[in-house]
Amino acid sequence: MTINHDPRPLFAANWKMYKGPRSTREFLRDFMQLYEIRDDRRVVFFPSSISVEAFALATEPRPDIGLGVQDVHSEDSGAHTGAISGSMAVEAGAGWSLAGHSERRIEFGDDDTIVLNKTRRILSSGLAPIVCVGETLDERDSGRLAEILARQIGSVLSGLDAANHHLLTWAYEPVWAIGTGRTASPADASEAHDIVRTAIATHAGDLTATKATVLYGGSVKPGNINDLMEVSGVNGVLVGGASLQPVDFAAICNCSGA
Ligand code: PEP
Repeated sequence: MTINHDPRPLFAANWKMYKGPRSTREFLRDFMQLYEIRDDRRVVFFPSSISVEAFALATEPRPDIGLGVQDVHSEDSGAHTGAISGSMAVEAGAGWSLAGHSERRIEFGDDDTIVLNKTRRILSSGLAPIVCVGETLDERDSGRLAEILARQIGSVLSGLDAANHHLLTWAYEPVWAIGTGRTASPADASEAHDIVRTAIATHAGDLTATKATVLYGGSVKPGNINDLMEVSGVNGVLVGGASLQPVDFAAICNCSGA
């Protein structure tokens, strides 16, 4: 079996509920000067859905800068007030979507079944999914890291056609490191990324697991990016807070560790 695979490191920005269309344009005006086109890496942003079209227009001269949405509904249309669908995201210019971010799991009740159904919809809409997984501090402290990651990854992979397994990008994001300023140590990140790859291999086979892009996320900043990119098995990062400042995110994307 051969699988399509982009081996270049991926730098992803999750803007959460920050930046409307105007501040999106302002950010990009600065960022596009600080980060010039590079063939050896990939960059993708996940702005708020209300800013997706503004983002797409502002990056027209920069096809190297990818665009995604933070969430899609598991249905493609219907009476779902406040939700957006995968096909609407495509129409607005997006090529990617997150699924399973811990803020969606905790605040909006996205459980494993919902994350699976959203991932299915992301794929059927023609978007590329980044599926986020990670343990809480309680789960880690009680020795359940491997169990939690295996459950979150297994529930997605076992519900998808095997032909789609290689289309998933993964983000390991320990919940205790998101927005807390506390970053996983290189040893912790390495251990967790090994567990993630083992769980992928269990359901999708060794080749897909070896080639999968697995990001680290959790308080990534310019000061720790090089150490994290040196961790074996880390193929890029998903960045929240530090992606909101053009200077910081450009420094991350331009890092020498990639
Ligand atoms: C995130 O939201 O995915 C994230 C990793 O946030 P932060 O970088 O702020 O910890």
